Amino acid sequence: MARVEDLFRQADIAIYHAKESGRNSLRFFDPQMQEKIHHLASLKKDLRKALEQQQFQLYFQIQVDALQYPIGAEALIRWQHPEHGLVPPDQFIPLTEQTGLILPIGQWVLETACAQLKAREQDESTCNLTLSINVSAKQFRQTNFVTQEQNAVQRYGINPAKLKLELTESMLANNIEKIIITMSTLNAMGIRFSLDDFGTGYSSLQYLKRLPLYQLKIDQSFIRELAVDSNDPALVLTIIAMAENLGLEVMAEGVETQAQQALLLKKGCRHFQGYLFGKPVPIKLFEEALQQKYLFGVDANNNRPFR
Ligand code: C2E
Ligand code: CA
Ligand code: CA
Repeated sequence: MARVEDLFRQADIAIYHAKESGRNSLRFFDPQMQEKIHHLASLKKDLRKALEQQQFQLYFQIQVDALQYPIGAEALIRWQHPEHGLVPPDQFIPLTEQTGLILPIGQWVLETACAQLKAREQDESTCNLTLSINVSAKQFRQTNFVTQEQNAVQRYGINPAKLKLELTESMLANNIEKIIITMSTLNAMGIRFSLDDFGTGYSSLQYLKRLPLYQLKIDQSFIRELAVDSNDPALVLTIIAMAENLGLEVMAEGVETQAQQALLLKKGCRHFQGYLFGKPVPIKLFEEALQQKYLFGVDANNNRPFR
C-alpha cells in the first residue's frame, strides 16, 4: 500500500500536469508522469555540467536566395549527451530557460558564432555569408544584453553586419519602449534583427513598424500548409505583402519541396531555408559542402550538396 507521503507526492505530480494543460483541467496520477519528471530532473542536473564539459555543438543550416546561392546560415544548438546521444534543442532549451542556464549557453552560442564569422573572413567562399543566432527571451531581457553583444563583436573583431539576431514575437510583447532602445542601439552598430516564427504570435502592426527589424521569417507551419492546399496561400501572401510594405526582407523557413519554393518565388519571396537546400549539419560538414558548391558551381547539374 502506498505511503501517505507517496500519495501526496503523486497528487502533486498530477496537479503539476493538470496546470501544464491549462486552466480547469483534471489529471489522475500515472506512473509515466513520475518517469517524465525524473527524466527532466536528471536532464537538468546533466545540463549544469554540459557547458564545462563542452557537450554543446552548433549546427549550421544553409539559407539561400532566389537562385539558390548561399547567403547565410542559421546556427542551431545541439547537445551531445554522454548517454542519450544527440539531444535536440526543443528538449533542453526550455529547461535551460527555467534554470537560467540559458544565459551562459546563449553567451557560448554568441561567442562561437563570432569566432566562426572571424574564421571565415579570409575565405572567399564564406566571407559574405551572414550568421543568424537564436536569442531567448531571458537573454534579451538582461540589463547588460547590449554590452554583451557589443563586447563579443569587438573582442572577435567581426563585421557586425554579418551577425543576425533572431527574436520571436512573444519577446516583443511587453515594455516596447525599452525593446526599441535595445534593438536600436545594436542596430546602430550594424547588427541586424530577424523576427522568427512570424505569424504564430500576436504582433501588433503598430509595434512592428516601430521596431528596427531587418527580416521576417515566415513560420514553417504556413509553408507546410502550402503543400497541402497550394490553392490557398493566403496567409503566406499576406505576410510577404506586409513585409514588403514595411520594407523588410522576408525569408521562408521549413521549405521542403520544389513546389513550395516555386509558389513562394511566384509570390515574391526571395530568401529560403529548409531541408530542400540542406538540413542543419555540424560546422565542418557545412564548410565542406560549401566548398564543393563553389568548386562545382551552384547551377551545374542542379547540384545541391547540402541535402
Ligand atoms: P527555430 O529557430 O524555429 O529553428 C528552426 C527549426 O526548424 C530547427 O529545429 C531546424 O532544424 C528545423 N527545420 C529547418 N528546416 C526544416 C524543414 O525543412 N523541415 C522541418 N520539418 N524542420 C526544419 P531545431 O534545430 O530542432 O531547433 C528547434 C528550436 O530550438 C529552434 O527553432 C529554436 O527556437 C531553438 N534553438 C535552437 N538553437 C538555439 C540556440 O542556440 N538558442 C536558443 N535560445 N534557441 C535555440
Ligand atoms: Ca530561428
Ligand atoms: Ca523558426
